[in-house]
Amino acid sequence: MPIYEYRCQQCGHQQEQFHRSLDRAKIPDCEACEPGDMQRVISRFATPKTESQVLDQYGSPGPGAGPDAYRDPRQIGRWAEERFDQMGVEMPAEAKQMIDAARDGELPAPVKDL
Ligand SMILES: [Zn+2]
Repeated sequence: MPIYEYRCQQCGHQQEQFHRSLDRAKIPDCEACEPGDMQRVISRFATPKTESQVLDQYGSPGPGAGPDAYRDPRQIGRWAEERFDQMGVEMPAEAKQMIDAARDGELPAPVKDL
């Protein structure tokens, strides 16, 4: 049972409308200036992700790392190193090699295809 948000194109009034079913979803009258000109406001969940949301989801490259961090070969693996450090685990030799290679400008295979 969806609740849609509507905004009146005439007076700017915004209201939420509860619908019993998607089929019956019908544009309501404006409560402020009936009937008004209501238009559905696209759900806030559909808005594009902000940069901070992306970082929340995929992890931050680390404090002080700018947006170019991913493109700077010297930054490659720094975040991973920090992560292992935080966990108190030593980085696997394989990961270390990959990072070293990447820093030399040799990107690991999966990244090359990007
Ligand atoms: Zn209105």
